[in-house]
Amino acid sequence: MLFEVLVKALDSAERTTSRTQLTSILVDLFKKSEPDVIDKVIYLLQGRLWPDWAGLPELGVGVKLLIKAMSKALSVRESDIEALYVKLGDSGKVAEYLKSTRSTQALGGLSKFIQKAEVTKLTVVEVYDTLAKVALAVGEGSRDIKINLIASLISKATPLEAKYIARLVEGRLRLGIGDATIMDALSITFTGSSLNRQIVEYAYNVRADLGNVAKILATKGLDGLRGIAPTPGIPIRPMLAERLSDPQEILDKTGGLALVEYKYDGERAQIHKAGDKVLIFSRRLENITHQYPDVVELARESIKANEAIVEGEIVCIDPETGTMRPFQELMHRKRKHDIHEAVKEYPVAVYLFDALYVDGVNLIGEPIKTRREVLAKTIAENERFRLSEAITVTSASDLEKFFLKAVEDGAEGVMVKAMHAQSIYQAGARGWLWIKYKRDYKSEMIDTVDLVVVGAFKGRGRRGGKIGALLVAAYDPDSDTFQTVCKVGSGFTDEDLSKLDELISPYVIEHKHPRVVSEVEPDVWTVPALVIEVLGAELTLSPQHTCCRGAVKKGAGISIRFPRFIRWRDDKGPEDATTTKELVEMYLKQLKKVTEETVEKVEP
Ligand code: ATP
Repeated sequence: MLFEVLVKALDSAERTTSRTQLTSILVDLFKKSEPDVIDKVIYLLQGRLWPDWAGLPELGVGVKLLIKAMSKALSVRESDIEALYVKLGDSGKVAEYLKSTRSTQALGGLSKFIQKAEVTKLTVVEVYDTLAKVALAVGEGSRDIKINLIASLISKATPLEAKYIARLVEGRLRLGIGDATIMDALSITFTGSSLNRQIVEYAYNVRADLGNVAKILATKGLDGLRGIAPTPGIPIRPMLAERLSDPQEILDKTGGLALVEYKYDGERAQIHKAGDKVLIFSRRLENITHQYPDVVELARESIKANEAIVEGEIVCIDPETGTMRPFQELMHRKRKHDIHEAVKEYPVAVYLFDALYVDGVNLIGEPIKTRREVLAKTIAENERFRLSEAITVTSASDLEKFFLKAVEDGAEGVMVKAMHAQSIYQAGARGWLWIKYKRDYKSEMIDTVDLVVVGAFKGRGRRGGKIGALLVAAYDPDSDTFQTVCKVGSGFTDEDLSKLDELISPYVIEHKHPRVVSEVEPDVWTVPALVIEVLGAELTLSPQHTCCRGAVKKGAGISIRFPRFIRWRDDKGPEDATTTKELVEMYLKQLKKVTEETVEKVEP
């Protein structure tokens, strides 16, 4: 497959403001992809070379190195390219400009350069393989190797190809094409209808590698996807919980019987074991094995099966007392350099709550009772590696009692899990089979929410010209769009504010992103990528915002009164943000609470 075919699609995707059109651009592209390169096409579309969890180095060379490569490929002085970069602010545009300008005059004062004849056209495989070599080159001499590899690509590229090669190499493609849009397009391309997206999604949930899923679909069809089973080493997309704050209501939802477990406040860990090899994946399926050498050791010793995929929460504990410490303490584990120091200073325990695969048996479709039994048999428990605290309840009062005990023991609350025959592990989905009931639901706005930055506003006065507020949105998985909720301008410390421009600028685009639904016009638009946690006084209805517009009242969307920034959620991707549906449910809950309180006041 020629690289120019992919590049034309990237260019159209960048220009479009419509999601439908984005999907058709992808369908056209996938139709032209040979089955054995479609995985590479998909990774490149997403600006990467392999799934994040592969634990391999990603692209992302510095601008300086890229400029050296361009200089080498095009025989233009580095200082001239730097000047152009300052002017255009985008290495892609610089590369495109340099490639398309064939005369010295057109470049102003730039020195002479020779445009090499384009002898052979670049293919997707050649570009991918070269980029992979760039990413993987390490150690002595790797800088020169990278420069030569990039220069070789740029010298063969057309201007438009050079634009995207430069952005890819710099790790700045950022088209924001979501997994859901790609799955829709795959389904349409290979099955003729988006109705089969469910099967594609099932496969992706069990094998979080969209490139690989696409390749199986392209080569073996839907049956190939149906046959996909958990494989140690390849993460499974996590099952997520709904939220409620009334024990009786929770129990009603689970059908009167539930497994109630402590909701530990730590980091979710999906632990894969195959023989002696242990891998740990985060909630976002990043490979976090290197942060937890102690957990690797514990898993090796305590998981009795030869092969297993189990899930649990890693929690910081006080080594003296064994009590749980706040979640923030785990952050020390993120520092890579002194990990062995951190292991000693910040010891952890693992509380396991699920088993998804054990020695050849796929447990995803089994009810929780079976999974928990298998988990208990698979783990040789000890102080630091054990099953989550859990009981079975049939009454709201027992649930509430256990909740209070959990909070007293330092847990965040409880996770209530349905136990009926259909209580399977719903990989990649947030549903009512798991319900979280947390202590902070007692506050005014029942919980913080995680919203996606889709635009930003420049400040006035003291913050004149600099970004001072963010336009944030909730995610609607049905339409795969981000619908605006509010503008967040408070809660930032001076330090947070001073970093906003730098944080936002890599994501700035010239027009509203096709997946964003907004009637508010911010000063700059961004690709939906960054997620922030927000707390407000209460949820309100607003004619300005588009979040679930019309769901509660005609013409009104759900918004937040007095929203304030709590923190960046680097651990969440845009699709992990609070959904529009969840916000509606939270709004209705709040309404019910207010009504009940008013009634109580009126009827003493
Ligand atoms: P939050 O921001 O509330 O942590 P989230 O969006 O990250 O939520 P949720 O599905 O809403 O994820 O809450 C479930 C999370 O709670 C899980 O991802 C897991 O990390 C954690 N957890 C702690 N204890 C348990 C347990 N016993 N069973 C399942 N999940 C648990």
